[in-house]
Amino acid sequence: MPARNILVINCGSSSIKFALINEAHSDFVLSGLAERLGSPDAQLHWQRGGEKDSLILPNADHRVALAQVLPLVQSAAGGQLHGIGHRVVHGGEHFTAACRLDALSLSAIRATAPLAPLHNPANLLGIEAAIKLFPNLTQVAVFDTAFHQTLPEHAYRYALPEYLYREHGVRRYGFHGTSHRYVSQRAAELAGLPIGNSSWLVAHLGNGCSTCAIVDGQSRDTSMGLTPLEGLVMGTRSGDVDPNLHSHLARTLGWSLEQIDTLLNKDSGLLGLSGLSNDMRSLEQAREQGHAGATLAIEVFCYRLAKSLAAMSCALPQLDGLIFTGGIGENSPLIRSKTVAHLQLLGLALDEQANVSPVRGASGAIHAPGHPRVLVVPTNEEHQIALDTLELLEA
Ligand code: ADP
Repeated sequence: MPARNILVINCGSSSIKFALINEAHSDFVLSGLAERLGSPDAQLHWQRGGEKDSLILPNADHRVALAQVLPLVQSAAGGQLHGIGHRVVHGGEHFTAACRLDALSLSAIRATAPLAPLHNPANLLGIEAAIKLFPNLTQVAVFDTAFHQTLPEHAYRYALPEYLYREHGVRRYGFHGTSHRYVSQRAAELAGLPIGNSSWLVAHLGNGCSTCAIVDGQSRDTSMGLTPLEGLVMGTRSGDVDPNLHSHLARTLGWSLEQIDTLLNKDSGLLGLSGLSNDMRSLEQAREQGHAGATLAIEVFCYRLAKSLAAMSCALPQLDGLIFTGGIGENSPLIRSKTVAHLQLLGLALDEQANVSPVRGASGAIHAPGHPRVLVVPTNEEHQIALDTLELLEA
């Protein structure tokens, strides 16, 4: 059988990220981004081999953009596309693993939309457009939440009246599951340990950030909750705040729910603390020039991250290693170093020489000799979605 080609689609409300993956190659055959969909500035950018190209698609919606992607995919795949894997943010309690898309699973994804009102409807736009364009292909949904369905009840329940959980699904779900799963498997391979008999802490640090405790290949706790706002300081999200902040702001400043939502999701985190940027690279540069807000944002980010990792360690029988991943985790020696410095009680220490040496895109061990492993492992959610899709093609 020739090596199969899988198209991976990640749809946002106004964007589509896509990657064509051939099972015999680690690099993407084709990848791209359609952005500002629904606006006069809608554009499509793509990359094949070393070549980049783009197209202006005024007012294109998801369907129009995907229709433009179709001939690119067919040409890059030599006419041999075997399946499509879609990233879906929220699978609720219904989805504990990836699933084939059919009328039944589609209606279950629709039913989950109230839990992820910003994300699931956008994911569905891509799915529906792709099914119309490729009606005869197997299409698969891979959920950010599914990996965390192994959390024990004491980790996923909030201390709230039970009916809110039973009748309204108010519980901790966790996100970034595809990334936590992928990097923990890669880390076990790198360490020469069986994933089914090893214990890991993971820090996924991108624009969104979360930690995860993984035992024997299963998620046992994670820092995000009902929504991706809970937990760590992120690019523009506050992470944990006192839940009474809502009523405090409403009472003292007369703010509406929408204003508070915007504050916590869009104006807070690194951006809010620094008053400068949500981008860690920019903050590191500003810190070097003595910017007080950037310096504070980095200190709070690392301390809160370390606190979360220490909390996650409660779920582990032993620690086989801490994994850093995501744009910040993979590329920032400063953040890794400052975070690990708060975790001496877990026995963690870095080899600072090794910490500054992993090159972009490569995995590496950065712990000091005689201390628990600390690994940098680049995440590759598209690759994991393609693997899940391949597995369901065979099922
Ligand atoms: P997303 O969650 O959107 O996929 P990424 O995983 O690409 O985001 O992470 C983006 C973050 O990674 C940004 O804050 C960016 O500044 C940060 N980042 C990327 N490269 C570096 C670097 N060399 N040093 C520090 N931060 C970096």
